[in-house]
Amino acid sequence: MKTLAVIGGGITGVTTAYALAKRGYAVTLFERHRYAAMDTSFANGGQLSASNAETWTHPSTLLKGLKWMLKSDAPLLVNPKPSWHKMSWFAAFIASIPKYRENTIETARLAIAAREHLFAWAAAEGIDFDHRREGTLHIYRDKKGFDHAGEVSKLLAAGGLARQAVTPAEMKAIEPTLAGTYYGGYYTESDSTGDIHKFTQGLAAACERLGVRCLYGQDVWSVRSDGREARVAVAAADGSEVYAFDGVVVCAGVGSRALAAQLGDRVNVYPVKGYSITVNLLDATSQQAAPTVSLLDDETKLVTSRLGVDRFRVAGTAEFNGVNRDIRADRIRPLVDWVNQCFPGVSTRQVVPWAGLRPMMPDMMPRVGRGRRANVFYNTGHGHLGWTLSAATAELLGECVARHAPGGLRPLSGIAAAA
Ligand SMILES: Cc1cc2nc3c(=O)[nH]c(=O)nc-3n(C[C@H](O)[C@H](O)[C@H](O)COP(=O)(O)OP(=O)(O)OC[C@H]3O[C@@H](n4cnc5c(N)ncnc54)[C@H](O)[C@@H]3O)c2cc1C
Repeated sequence: MKTLAVIGGGITGVTTAYALAKRGYAVTLFERHRYAAMDTSFANGGQLSASNAETWTHPSTLLKGLKWMLKSDAPLLVNPKPSWHKMSWFAAFIASIPKYRENTIETARLAIAAREHLFAWAAAEGIDFDHRREGTLHIYRDKKGFDHAGEVSKLLAAGGLARQAVTPAEMKAIEPTLAGTYYGGYYTESDSTGDIHKFTQGLAAACERLGVRCLYGQDVWSVRSDGREARVAVAAADGSEVYAFDGVVVCAGVGSRALAAQLGDRVNVYPVKGYSITVNLLDATSQQAAPTVSLLDDETKLVTSRLGVDRFRVAGTAEFNGVNRDIRADRIRPLVDWVNQCFPGVSTRQVVPWAGLRPMMPDMMPRVGRGRRANVFYNTGHGHLGWTLSAATAELLGECVARHAPGGLRPLSGIAAAA
């Protein structure tokens, strides 16, 4: 296999193209937007957080979901209108609950493995992405949340991640700008943050320097394979075209399910919508009053990142409402209120809202590996942790293509080859 198509120019597609180009393949990347990283990899929470590896397939998620179902400002919102896709996804989500522990441990391992690749690539390619290595502080307002975090810490430790319990006084020392009363926290020093859009753009430019043909503004409407040749048909402003390759890798975020179906595979990605706000820190007072350590508030399900001197990103919430990128004022309001409460010295006069769709598998594990056809591969379905995991899964996919193992590669238990 010499020539490969990669479909999707988000973080997973660009890291995959890079890993393949580095291995000597002739790669063509198709992206429907005019630039890389314009969809979910645009304005996410920014956390490179192994400490957030806990999968959501815990019974408590179901109870919270039911409680929150009818509250429009709740962290989790489900449109009760039934659809086959949503129902089949929820059924598979519930069926994955027994694998909660195993999948959390595997995710932590993968997140730790991703770091060395991502940092090395950024250094080698000179990519400035507002990277900040100041750790993640999980914050808890009550004993129940803190105790659950203690149990999660054991799973993270099994995956190789060290994080320490901290008292409210220690929390204050770690992040002095944080206001409010807390029961306690957990601090993960090895986590970091950065701007996913800047990184992906930088790596896409590096891909082009390595010879990757990046075809932007090209909407793939058909992909077919007979196992030896893959055909990709695109619609672009200047007309339609069909390209032939030795193989194809699907990294199309929430578009992966439809493309997989064309290739005879089932990749049950559901679009789980989230929101972010980017608070522009326009004055010196706001810049001093905003945190530099990344935060994760488990109760409100919000994460934060300080991007450079003058941007503070807050992201979170989960909405099950199909492919819908509308930015709802009633979902943005809780994010702004949270900043006002936790960081009262930060001016929220200028706030940029955004909504994105997490490409989420029901078991919360990305699909990395071969499809039904020998020359079809997937690296997709990274859900709430695509920024954290992509460098590792791109490397795994690169190895998978290089080895071309019959029957597909299962590099880590739980990371199942798409089939
Ligand atoms: C609010 C929010 C906060 C988040 N915070 C974090 C965080 O702090 N840390 C973390 O690790 N992760 C976080 N995530 C998750 C992370 O952002 C995603 O997992 C990741 O961006 C997904 O990348 P992707 O490449 O799979 O998808 P995308 O970035 O969506 O890329 C897929 C690309 O494929 C293209 N495409 C699709 N179909 C076609 C087609 N037919 N033809 C051509 N092109 C096509 C799309 O245009 C798109 O550009 C967050 C997500 C959200 C929504």
